[in-house]
Amino acid sequence: MPLVALSAAAGAAGGNVKKSIVMSSPHSLAVNELFISIQGEGGLIGMPSAFIRLDGCPLRCTWCDTPYALEGTAGHTMSPAEIAAWVGSCRHVVITGGEPLIQDLTGLVAALEGKHITVETSGTIFADLPEVSLFSISPKVGSSGYTPKPAVLRKFFATAAGRLQLKFIIADDRDLDEVRALVTTLDRSLPPRTPIILQPESGRAGRGLEYLRYLTGLTERVVGDGFWKAYDVRILPQLHYLLWNGVPGR
Ligand code: SF4
Repeated sequence: MPLVALSAAAGAAGGNVKKSIVMSSPHSLAVNELFISIQGEGGLIGMPSAFIRLDGCPLRCTWCDTPYALEGTAGHTMSPAEIAAWVGSCRHVVITGGEPLIQDLTGLVAALEGKHITVETSGTIFADLPEVSLFSISPKVGSSGYTPKPAVLRKFFATAAGRLQLKFIIADDRDLDEVRALVTTLDRSLPPRTPIILQPESGRAGRGLEYLRYLTGLTERVVGDGFWKAYDVRILPQLHYLLWNGVPGR
């Protein structure tokens, strides 16, 4: 079976882009970890889910919360059938990373037919996957060291309207300003009622009370800005950080 070498397709994202060493095909995926937890982010927050963390990412966001999944060296390869067998009866499945779209997901999403499939991506690599129930796209802004790719985002908007959410990590006021500017730029192509999730960056904003104070400040700033009233915007914490402080496998 020919393996597909996947490279740094996120080249125009700005910042430092790495060549990925991950090799995959529709029949073999590089897996970092599998675990059962609750969805900690976005519109399905709190939902018990089976997480498939794929290995490797071409970006190196300054505050990345999964540094162990970037290099693509975990060394576990699994077939879609093996992964689907592990998922078993769990209805909600989250394919995450790293950046899962550096790998060919066609075989995996086919093997997971009938499940609610969320793919979490940075929105730097496009994939047209009709079987995916929800693309949870997290474009990286200022504090990450990268800039979003509107052309890639518009491809998702054109092919996955109604199956999208945009999720932004906010570490400081500049990030929120950049998200506002991006939403303005994208406005005409953004499908109506696309959820826009704003969530404080867990590491930089601190944890515990400090995290909650930052969440309060972000909420007040968004609620006080008339711009956001025209959008389906929500300010949410990363629940898994509040519960388990972001330990792997949670
Ligand atoms: S895109 Fe995601 S996995 Fe990749 S470096 Fe950024 S935060 Fe980490």
